[in-house]
Amino acid sequence: MCRSSLANRSRTGDELDESLQSSRRENRLDEHPVAQFDRHRFLGRVFRLGSGARIINGVVNQNGEGKPLKHIFEILANERWTRGLVTTAEITHATPAGFASSVSSRDKAPEIASQYLKGKVDLLLGGGAKYFDKAYRLDKRDLLREFRDAGYAVMEKPAELAVAPTNKRWLGLFSRSHLPFTLDHVHDPKLLSNVPTLATMTAAALRRLENESHFILQVEGGRIDHGCHNNDAAAALYDQIAFDEAIDVCLEYQKRDPETLIVITTDHATGGLALNGSGDSYGQSIWQFRNLQDIKQSFAVMARPLKRLPAVDEPDFEKDDAAEKNKEDAKSAAQKEREKVEKKIKEENVATPTEIIQIVEAGTGYKMPYRKAELLRQSLMNAGESIFDTRKSDTAALGDVLANYLAISFTSTAHTADHVPVVAIGPGAERFGGYIQNTDIFGHYLDLAGVDFRNPQEPLIEARGRDAGAVEDIARYSQV
Ligand SMILES: [Zn+2]
Repeated sequence: MCRSSLANRSRTGDELDESLQSSRRENRLDEHPVAQFDRHRFLGRVFRLGSGARIINGVVNQNGEGKPLKHIFEILANERWTRGLVTTAEITHATPAGFASSVSSRDKAPEIASQYLKGKVDLLLGGGAKYFDKAYRLDKRDLLREFRDAGYAVMEKPAELAVAPTNKRWLGLFSRSHLPFTLDHVHDPKLLSNVPTLATMTAAALRRLENESHFILQVEGGRIDHGCHNNDAAAALYDQIAFDEAIDVCLEYQKRDPETLIVITTDHATGGLALNGSGDSYGQSIWQFRNLQDIKQSFAVMARPLKRLPAVDEPDFEKDDAAEKNKEDAKSAAQKEREKVEKKIKEENVATPTEIIQIVEAGTGYKMPYRKAELLRQSLMNAGESIFDTRKSDTAALGDVLANYLAISFTSTAHTADHVPVVAIGPGAERFGGYIQNTDIFGHYLDLAGVDFRNPQEPLIEARGRDAGAVEDIARYSQV
């Protein structure tokens, strides 16, 4: 499942290296046995690590036969740990869901939201308000009211977050879907006042948790992956920086409370982002990279005028798959044909090459040649071609156009198989260095918490059914 390719590469710099080295000297497990810790704190951003077992892509904490695996929040709840999730994506998105739910598909966001309530997750901050809204949900449950009735402080504005009572559980949902890309957030005063940054949410979460005897907090820079899926280098990098700022908040906290373990990692990379040398001499790479500073809009924002979409979408509702299928089956051949033609007319209603040049220049500072605008227009109409099918999309085409400006390019719009770093500071940090299996992290957390538990392991199973594109609806990331 998804997450931040870049996030992993973020904190291998001097500051963390130094901290890591000193933590290795000072916090050896044999000198500080786990059992002697008064208070354990884990701050981490990890995924697919929620049950320590290999599972099929798209499934959340269930084995090959669909039987639930115990997730880490359930296990630690039994040990009286306080548990929190913070993300810039929907709070029901795959990473937070991987710590605190068990469902047959990551798409089942309304069910994941219900499980958070049932599991009494102590702190939830992020996006995805619609999944808690009775108007959206097929079952018409008013989850916001149910959370309130269960004693949660329910918030939707950053100002409420700043003064939220620390003796209650928290549910803060600051957007109907994902929080905006940081690139758009920092360039829009209205968004800045309506939506908190990842660092602000992290600092608030730590204020809520700092007096607990034991806590685990998962913090996700959830939109880095989305920027990479879109081949949108600026969006990915701005969200990477936002993640870095959240790490700073955690490191500052760890200085005040050195018994806190911080683990920074990801479950995979996305898009194959590469900084390319460019020009006849390498010098051109540097000034091209500097062009990032001119970019003011994500591809998701530029997509609206480029595709002539309305400024605001119609609200969407949870779909009943069986009813949708019945409706589709009941259509006559003539009706299906008519809808196909209507869809094509809609797809072809995109900006002209001249408009494309203007829109992209206004959003990025790059004035593309007319010929490139003509090619890009084909992709915007869903009629473009790429020799490599995985890059046949409008966002990949826009990413290619901007690669001429930034010298940053991508290999695909899908997840990639890079080795990803895991770095840690604090008690037990030694366990998270070098090459380790992602599934080992779950075991390390439980060992350090003094819990003797492992989920059953299965032999490697072949993913069946849905292909990668169907597992994660990446087309949604190019929508605001
Ligand atoms: Zn992804």
